[in-house]
Amino acid sequence: MINIKEPKIEFAINAVRQAASLAGDIQREMVSVAITKDDRSPVTVADFAAQAVVSSLLGKRFPDAILVGEEQAGALRSPEGRETLDRVTNFVNRVILGVTPKLVCEYIDRGDAAPGKNYWTLDPIDGTKGFLRRAQYACALAYVEDGKVQLGVLGCPNMNSDLREDIGGSGSLLVAKKGSGSWMTELRESQEGYQYSPLTVSTRLEPKHARLMRSFESGHTNISQVDHFQEELGSKADPVRMDSQVKYALLAAGQGEIYLRLLSPDRMDYREKIWDQAAGSVIVEEAGGRVTDLDGNSLDFSQGRTLKKNRGICATNGIIHEAALTALRKINA
Ligand code: AMP
Ligand code: MG
Repeated sequence: MINIKEPKIEFAINAVRQAASLAGDIQREMVSVAITKDDRSPVTVADFAAQAVVSSLLGKRFPDAILVGEEQAGALRSPEGRETLDRVTNFVNRVILGVTPKLVCEYIDRGDAAPGKNYWTLDPIDGTKGFLRRAQYACALAYVEDGKVQLGVLGCPNMNSDLREDIGGSGSLLVAKKGSGSWMTELRESQEGYQYSPLTVSTRLEPKHARLMRSFESGHTNISQVDHFQEELGSKADPVRMDSQVKYALLAAGQGEIYLRLLSPDRMDYREKIWDQAAGSVIVEEAGGRVTDLDGNSLDFSQGRTLKKNRGICATNGIIHEAALTALRKINA
């Protein structure tokens, strides 16, 4: 069981619920207008607003905690950023009444800290391209101690509480604590309280029947290697293409067996950002799965803002992991 009244867990669930719900509002209210103009401003507004909300709540609950967030407020402080800052402030004001533009910038920049021995890490909007396409994205918050993720929360506004796609629906929230399993509930605020159901990975044994997930954006992976990998496993089903850490959520819930992040041929030096992997990876591990890099090494969150010592990601239901790593070696991934 997980004790959702534990202070860090209670804080993280509430912070993600507030931030992801606000992101959902911003997507509903701004994206359909902007989409025709190839305008990225809705995701910019949502990114900043969600980080400001989480950071402000963290500062109130744990004033000494370190936050490593994806965003910095520099651009908002410039005269050109003023309009965006006003929009961000208006949205943040729905959660933090009376907030000022100056405070919004301060909250955001609190997330500019260097990762210490213990730190929180936040991706306010993971899957920005999915957000703009009105597809999948997630708000991801995790707590790391000594390089290991201890707690992870994912808010998925466009997945319903059975983890089926539901754009603009009630959303789902996943939480895992090391040693306490992975759990799922509704994202939407409810006066009646929340039911938490346990998440477990799929028990499929046969690599050839494995359902594979990969980034929607081809530039974030290596699609020809994904094909070779599947040939090696003997798997024929088309991989599921999806944005963001929602892929980790599906793996944890048994809706797929393998999630790969191969290195793009244009960016062989790419190293994963801590906030892109922290929450999702602990949710998969606590649901019974395994997460390593492409060489089978465990993820080391003690190396700064990126996973400097790891190359790519191989996440599976556990049972298939060795077969997946063998296939990766064979194709020289
Ligand atoms: P996904 O939707 O799974 O592709 O994950 C989105 C995340 O991919 C973003 O938050 C980016 O930080 C990250 N990203 C950006 N460029 C790359 C790249 N070349 N390879 C892998 N991930 C990337
Ligand atoms: Mg991200």
